[in-house]
Amino acid sequence: MDPIQINLSAPIYGSNGTGVVPNQVGESFEVPDSLLVALTSAFKRMLAQPGPHGATLRAMFGNHRYKFVGEMPVGYTHVRFTRDDGRRDIRVYGHSSGLCYNSAAQFLPHVVAMLVLSDRCYCNLCHEVDTKESYDSVTLSVKQAVNVQNSLHFYTRRLNYHRQRKQMPLNPAHPANNRVGGRVQRDIAMQKLGQSHIQQSERQEEE
Ligand SMILES: [Zn+2]
Repeated sequence: MDPIQINLSAPIYGSNGTGVVPNQVGESFEVPDSLLVALTSAFKRMLAQPGPHGATLRAMFGNHRYKFVGEMPVGYTHVRFTRDDGRRDIRVYGHSSGLCYNSAAQFLPHVVAMLVLSDRCYCNLCHEVDTKESYDSVTLSVKQAVNVQNSLHFYTRRLNYHRQRKQMPLNPAHPANNRVGGRVQRDIAMQKLGQSHIQQSERQEEE
């Protein structure tokens, strides 16, 4: 049977790619084809793997073969970096952290989260953002805005974390930083907003 063809740029997958490509020295834009071929192979290997993870995936995706065709997920760009020895490393840009994926296999978990329309992603870049609590990830996205309590809770926690570290720059994109008074104003505003929600959010987390 022919493989099921998937075009990751289809709107249904709701890609969260930023479209940002830093365009660094030695990097050149590439057509998506070779990356999609590598992604197809990596997905095949992932579906075939033994153990509970493979079984879960097979339960979700069935006993089909899949082939990624067409374009990259919206906002993600395939770039190659030419090294001194002539080898050309894969770089996939578009993640909110500003970092890139260095292989199709690395990018694949993020793609799978997209395919199953999951809000939770366990790719190494999303994981890094979560564990390091990167300041850049503090964006009041549409999803977070839907759950204002939680977003305020996370924001306040991250704010406190970075306040402790002290050297983190302000996020100029945050509306609170555009007001006169900058940091002070932002801190007071977030404290006021955050405190009333923290207890409630913590209760929710415990459940
Ligand atoms: Zn991810």
